[in-house]
Amino acid sequence: MENTISFKDLNLIPQLERAIAKQGYTIPTPIQAQSIPGLLSGKDLIGIAQTGTGKTAAFILPILQKMTEKHPRVIQALVLAPTRELAAQIGDSFSAYGEFLNFRHTVIFGGVRQGRQVQALSGGIDILAATPGRLLDLLQQKRLNLDNVEFFVLDEADRMLDMGFLPDIKKIITKLPSQKQSLFFSATMSTPFNNLAKSLLKNPIQVDVAPETKTVERIKQYVFFIDSSSKGNLLLELLRQKNLASVLVFTRTKHKANKVAIFLSKNKISATAIHGNKSQNARTKAIHDFKTGRIKILVATDIAARGIDIDNISHVINFELPNEAESYIHRIGRTARAGAEGTAFSFCAADERNFLRDIETLIGQKIPIMDHSFHSETAKNAVGPSARPLPQKPFGNNAGFKHKSFPASKNKNYFSKNAKSGNRFKRSPKKW
Ligand code: AMP
Repeated sequence: MENTISFKDLNLIPQLERAIAKQGYTIPTPIQAQSIPGLLSGKDLIGIAQTGTGKTAAFILPILQKMTEKHPRVIQALVLAPTRELAAQIGDSFSAYGEFLNFRHTVIFGGVRQGRQVQALSGGIDILAATPGRLLDLLQQKRLNLDNVEFFVLDEADRMLDMGFLPDIKKIITKLPSQKQSLFFSATMSTPFNNLAKSLLKNPIQVDVAPETKTVERIKQYVFFIDSSSKGNLLLELLRQKNLASVLVFTRTKHKANKVAIFLSKNKISATAIHGNKSQNARTKAIHDFKTGRIKILVATDIAARGIDIDNISHVINFELPNEAESYIHRIGRTARAGAEGTAFSFCAADERNFLRDIETLIGQKIPIMDHSFHSETAKNAVGPSARPLPQKPFGNNAGFKHKSFPASKNKNYFSKNAKSGNRFKRSPKKW
């Protein structure tokens, strides 16, 4: 359904209207239109919305508006986010939407020295965006107090629960005043999320926007059945197509993300991996390089990619299928931001066949099969025990990394229109 509410209808103060205009937004997104009036009237909220829906402005705008009357430089608004990147982006959004208001905010997260963060806190701030672990550390060191929090936001709550942050979140909540306005955002509903929401929110309004399958419908999806040992070569072949302008490649593990990025770099394709083991600076740099087009290929794990605000991703490539079907929707949704179209390619080896079946059940459609030079009937037809991964050995079983020989692919090409270009295999790729 089209959203007919305008920003004027939301009765925002001129300072916020000005900031919105400066961002170039013309109409509120559905989550904004549906949440902002209730939030301005002081309601708690459950927002079911994923990144890309405009959910950040949906909570920041009303919080900033309600905070305008006083700014005593004590923390009045606390936003918890699962990852450093998301916390940093929330900080950036407070800067953008609050540009014409006189509030101070800061962002705190782990993985970097705490000195600067402590310094920022001691200067007096009104708004804090934080990841739970570092916040808890600083609370325990009595570097800050949350006694004056009036607005409490849990962003991407489902992901925080998946990452095991529930005990930290519960401890943090005990430090908050009982009288406050609480807003929980999650991409999906789940029993742990519902339980948390039920125990903490008072008579919340619930806003559920754009069921994720809608995003899926806008994305061109293809599956490539393939043996694990050929995945690297298929990736190279795809990435050498000109129309793959900016590509997010997903793996299931940090180790594989590194391995893929190194393999691409050795084959003269600029690529960087981002995952939780990288330093904050390395991750920030990788995202910056990707956004500015210095590198074309970002290789990421699910958690690292979550919440990163990068538009204009032309293709998502699932080098490995996720073992949770939901993650497939999150992954491919990265390529169809703000109404744009996108393409998602999924590589499916025999031992991932069941993951694909789960994904197809969740999205309610069969993903079209792409014909290509490395096609594997074994992968396509895998059933039973061969359709799922072997149990992991303690040091990994390294399956899929032994490349024997570069397959002959003179005649059968997956893009018949490119088949005649002829020189795709001039340089034989470096091996896995
Ligand atoms: P989010 O879901 O909060 O991560 O927002 C996704 C993207 O949508 C961000 O790049 C925002 O700048 C952008 N955005 C937020 N609200 C609007 C709006 N009303 N119109 C256009 N873009 C928006």
